[in-house]
Amino acid sequence: KFIALEGGEGAGKSTQARMLVSALAERGIHADLTREPGGTPGAEAIRNLLLDPPGEGWGAEAEALLFAAARADHVARRIVPALDRGDWVISDRFVDSSRAYQGGAGQLGDKAVVALHAIGSGGLRPDLTILLEAKEDHVAARLAQRDGDNSDAIGGRDITYHRAVAEAFRRYASEDPKGFAVIDAGGTPEEVHARIMSAISLLPES
Ligand code: C5P
Repeated sequence: KFIALEGGEGAGKSTQARMLVSALAERGIHADLTREPGGTPGAEAIRNLLLDPPGEGWGAEAEALLFAAARADHVARRIVPALDRGDWVISDRFVDSSRAYQGGAGQLGDKAVVALHAIGSGGLRPDLTILLEAKEDHVAARLAQRDGDNSDAIGGRDITYHRAVAEAFRRYASEDPKGFAVIDAGGTPEEVHARIMSAISLLPES
């Protein structure tokens, strides 16, 4: 199975991805924990270019192409081989992040991002996309923390942009209710984890 965790900043995706992989291991399921942008040496190099752009930064088109290039390498070199071995793959972000950030909230629109994904990665879809919905103050807190340590975020985006990202995620989930599980990211990590586990238990066996 291939499961992606999606959502805006501050939703706790990375924590939940780790908790999910441990819970699967306890059930005897080997899952490869990976992330986007990143997951392979090439894609991690592209991640660094995205988070710390040389020169004056990327235009919208170049940025979307870099995300798609990173994903193409990630899918071909890591995700597909793991699924072929019979492992599960848990990815902290996947194509719906590009659809939301570069597509819906950005300048490219959803169709162009989906087309890039078809070219770059054969249009691969997760078996389930878990959308973690955080309250807006969590988003703001996460952004403030990152501004402080100035590290792992693409800067220069305001709350209006992040609101549009959240809206785009919600729209994609409502258009594909079987493909998405929308999970409230509020409460303790254990509470959120329990919600995710019950969503996963609904996945068909094969
Ligand atoms: O998920 P993570 O926090 O590692 O993402 C790193 C940065 O990349 C964040 O600023 C996130 O908003 C951004 N990002 C993006 N478009 C994507 C995926 C991530 O702008 N498709």
